[in-house]
Amino acid sequence: MASNASSGTRVVNPATEQQVAEVAGCDAAQAAAAIDRAARAFEAWQRVAPGDRARLLRRFASIVDDHIEELAGIEVANSGHTISNARWEAGNVRDVLDYYAGAPERLAGRQIPVPGGLDVTIREPLGVVGIIVPWNFPMPIAGWGFGPALAAGNTVVLKPAQLTPLSALRLAELGRAAGLPDGVFTVLPGKGSVVGAAFVAHPAVRKICFTGSTEVGRQIMAGCAAQVKRLTLELGGKSANIVFADADLAKAAASAPAAVFDNAGQDCCARSRILVQGSVYEHFLELLEPAVRAFRCEDPQLPSAQMGPLISAGQRATVESYVDGAEVAFRGTAPDGKGYWYPPTALLAHSTQDRHWREEIFGPVVSVLPFTDEADAVAKANDTEYGLSGSIWTRDVGRAVRVARGVQSGNLSVNSNASVRYWTPFGGVKQSGLGRELGPDAPLAFTETKNVFISTED
Ligand code: NAD
Repeated sequence: MASNASSGTRVVNPATEQQVAEVAGCDAAQAAAAIDRAARAFEAWQRVAPGDRARLLRRFASIVDDHIEELAGIEVANSGHTISNARWEAGNVRDVLDYYAGAPERLAGRQIPVPGGLDVTIREPLGVVGIIVPWNFPMPIAGWGFGPALAAGNTVVLKPAQLTPLSALRLAELGRAAGLPDGVFTVLPGKGSVVGAAFVAHPAVRKICFTGSTEVGRQIMAGCAAQVKRLTLELGGKSANIVFADADLAKAAASAPAAVFDNAGQDCCARSRILVQGSVYEHFLELLEPAVRAFRCEDPQLPSAQMGPLISAGQRATVESYVDGAEVAFRGTAPDGKGYWYPPTALLAHSTQDRHWREEIFGPVVSVLPFTDEADAVAKANDTEYGLSGSIWTRDVGRAVRVARGVQSGNLSVNSNASVRYWTPFGGVKQSGLGRELGPDAPLAFTETKNVFISTED
């Protein structure tokens, strides 16, 4: 669907503000026709022998592997991601495909003891799955949906964000090159209110995987209710990075900037609230300052870049609106001139009511607030509508376990800021989402359990 047609949406490099492509969005009729094709393709795809489906997915993974540099280059140019991140993201698509290629041959049901016959459960695919992707991680979020969905025998229609459609369009071509039959995996660029809405409204789409803002997620959930359509929601976050006085403070401070400024802070898992125990608050800030100032915001093509620009001028204006009037503790630097640059910035919060403390900024801004004791830390961490990820820094194992149990969040790390591993489940609680992606059980979420009883009576 990429074209030079003047009716298309301009796709812009956020580091240079130069146009990199023009992509024609699908209209409602094109979206409906593509969903119909996916529904027809499902009839044959669900009957492909498990070993053959596994082989196709492994081949898809292998072709993605052959194109890591190309895909990474697309993401640097389209999304302003650093080249090292973009390579990881393309590699993540490969790994997710490879991991779930093991699923078709292992989607076993159960045999349940019952009187009078044999009872078995069968894991059946749902049909067409609609995946709606945001602009912040175009490749990984797409792969987390289509990898396990295809493995479980579903066909997929996927809508990338309007700002960042290029890598998904290329992935669809690579899927075809790997031998996926026509209609099995279709990428449909366009507006959320047109293409995304078509996924929600079309009865052949049996599940929606939505990643994006909490506001749009609520609308999608309401839309799905009309058809009792299955859905997964991966929404916003305002995750806490909790640093106790007994922690390795140097390590916690050195790693805190990357935990929030990675991808220019446009990360649903960004640890954008740092809670520091009062007795070490001043010392922690002294350690944090050089780490923030040293965080390299520069041309994302450079191997040394730790962070690139924001995605758009609009996003930069939103980020600025949170910093205006707030108390800036210290900040790093960003390039001048063209591009939607914003420097890494640390703010001091005065209460949990501060706007920059409460709302998801989705930019390179972190807020710091002291706490008194363990109970206060947990209460402050939980004083939010969100619950996606977070970190706990302490050398006391008992405390680490108590706080990990106390913080309301889907994903927590102790003495680490890692959130996402494709081997483990990922998702939010409260208004950060519904359902889980990734991990060993992800393909099951793309199936229904059918129970069949076979009488053994004469
Ligand atoms: P968004 O909600 O504006 O858009 C997300 C996607 O939904 C886009 O493809 C958009 O075109 C589509 N969309 C918009 N309106 C629609 C509608 N009415 N019907 C169907 N589809 C529609 O979000 P965004 O600005 O692209 O992304 C940023 C948000 O995503 C942040 O809030 C962030 O926290 C969240 N996010 C969450 C996760 C997670 O895993 N929890 C991961 C990444 C991003």
